[in-house]
Amino acid sequence: MLVDTHTHIHDENDRALSSEETFSRAHELGVDEIITIGTSPADSLKAKEFAEEWAEKGEKIFWTYGFHPNEYAENDRAGLTNAINMASEALKSPQNVGVGEIGLDYHFDGYSAEMQRELLLNMLQLAQDSQKPVSFHIRDAFDDFWPIFDNFHLPVSVMHSFSDSKKNLDEALKRDLYIGVNGLSTFADIAHPPLERVVLETDAPYLTPAPFRGTMNMPGYVKYVAEWATEYYKVDFSEVARITTENAKKIFKI
Ligand SMILES: [Zn+2]
Repeated sequence: MLVDTHTHIHDENDRALSSEETFSRAHELGVDEIITIGTSPADSLKAKEFAEEWAEKGEKIFWTYGFHPNEYAENDRAGLTNAINMASEALKSPQNVGVGEIGLDYHFDGYSAEMQRELLLNMLQLAQDSQKPVSFHIRDAFDDFWPIFDNFHLPVSVMHSFSDSKKNLDEALKRDLYIGVNGLSTFADIAHPPLERVVLETDAPYLTPAPFRGTMNMPGYVKYVAEWATEYYKVDFSEVARITTENAKKIFKI
């Protein structure tokens, strides 16, 4: 049994298949629990609605309240206040398991680093106050991120889709963070944590694992990330499944 700890399936534009088929394909491939991740206040409410609807139909589907650093409009402080107010209420949803994705992304020009940090501080306060784990998105911004992270007391959290240096991997491990491993590992040469600190994810519809590159990703494909892990860590599939699922359950309390 596998868990997809970071995916985006609540918006139909992010799915190759219908909701029903997305779930049944996931089950066929041994993926039983799914966390769909919000990227903005509006998107997060969509995730909430989707998760609540499908949980009612018997699926093990959970969601997180997120505000991606590249989704924050410059100088929209009213929007930020509104998002925080909305979040504290939404986090009471029975299917909510965390805050994220949140973080810093300096990869693309045109997004103020200062505003990103302001957003992150606010979202971290929310996570700390509610004691919810976080799914972090950090890209080309670790030097700014660590001092901010160190000011908060969060439950054990996840660095999603990590692809930075070995040094920053060690910094993450030192801080008890778990690492979200996805399809990137199947086609890119990146640093990896010990298996004991791995949670599996797809980040669908992005980062489709080999051998399905060029098609839309989906939660079921976590199976192929797990298969990659059996080769890399030289352990049985059942061992990869056991360890990563235990990690996911412990962190997100699912
Ligand atoms: Zn994501």
